[in-house]
Amino acid sequence: MPTCPGCSALIDGDAVECWHCGSSISMAVGADTASGAPTLAASEVDGTTRPFRGPSMIGRDVIGQYVIRRKLGEGGMGEVYLADQPAIGRQVAIKIVHAQTRGSDLDDHIERFRNEAKAAASLESPHIVQIFNWGELDDGTLFMAMEYLSGPTLGQVVREAGSLEPERVVAIATQICAALTEAHGAGVVHRDLKPSNIMLIERGDTPGPTFAKVLDFGIAKLEGSDITRSGAMFGTPQYMSPEQLRAEPLDGRSDLYSLGVMLYELLAGVLPFSSPTAVGYVTAHLHEQPPPLPRHVPRALGEVVTMMLAKQADDRPPTAAAVADALTAALKGRSPIAVRRRARQRALRTALWLTLALVSASALGY
Ligand code: ADP
Ligand code: MG
Repeated sequence: MPTCPGCSALIDGDAVECWHCGSSISMAVGADTASGAPTLAASEVDGTTRPFRGPSMIGRDVIGQYVIRRKLGEGGMGEVYLADQPAIGRQVAIKIVHAQTRGSDLDDHIERFRNEAKAAASLESPHIVQIFNWGELDDGTLFMAMEYLSGPTLGQVVREAGSLEPERVVAIATQICAALTEAHGAGVVHRDLKPSNIMLIERGDTPGPTFAKVLDFGIAKLEGSDITRSGAMFGTPQYMSPEQLRAEPLDGRSDLYSLGVMLYELLAGVLPFSSPTAVGYVTAHLHEQPPPLPRHVPRALGEVVTMMLAKQADDRPPTAAAVADALTAALKGRSPIAVRRRARQRALRTALWLTLALVSASALGY
């Protein structure tokens, strides 16, 4: 579990600077999940190259609007920097993909980058990172300016805590559901939901980082467009849905599966499935049932997570809003199975009455 040499805060395995104190981390290596499972970068799955460590960006002017100050983090596609926007007097985060990184995968990188910018910029939710601007610099570097978020990723939080209290898990999950409701309503499926793509910031009166923001719509697909390369597999195997692993067409219920994996991990402190290889995850997501959640997790909550992890999308809750409702009800002890059974009984009773009414009407000659 990597820690910052400056302040001992827990840091992401791929961090180059501490999110907490800004110290530079020279050789940070680690796992991407609470359970310590290996990080299987998208590059291992889709064959893209590792991020290129390009020329220093510190102090660089970006389109005459932003001045880059320091590195915040690094992901599969590029680097993220803190920058000033002097005209407005605010700080922004700028994601950079160097031209050299793009290399032979140039088209893919451009597509994925534009895709992220387009997908995220079209969405308006307080729980989705806001995109201000994006484009290409003279030397071919792609940039995207977005709101700067000061706080840990959910991955860092769960690594530090081991597992989270059910109430806290539901509070975070309902905010992610609000973001997904907005995205799915606009025809955008995130496709890479995982704790390191959620940041928690302080907002409002509640102390501590409790406000969730969804990041990284890098492989999101807008419905009706063919932005992701057909046949290629993007995503993080630990969190991918069976239909995503089979490269089938996806809808929002694929994100609900990934959210289910995340909730399991937050509640149990371990992933529902673990494997040293990407293939092991594929087999598990397609064919294995997760072990029961620990006993301290309320049963009704475990039932919601189990439903979200159903292999068939039809067996999952239908929408992110339904997940949020079910999680909130489960905290009050209401079992989603009982709720579903009652809804089925109601529908059956209604159908029976309608049939009876129709039969009587025709018998009476109406
Ligand atoms: P990638 O899409 O290349 O995987 P991410 O968007 O996930 O990259 O960002 C990598 C890291 O950069 C994150 O884990 C986080 O630490 C940091 N980061 C990303 N966006 C922001 C932001 N808006 N504000 C502050 N830090 C950010
Ligand atoms: Mg990321």
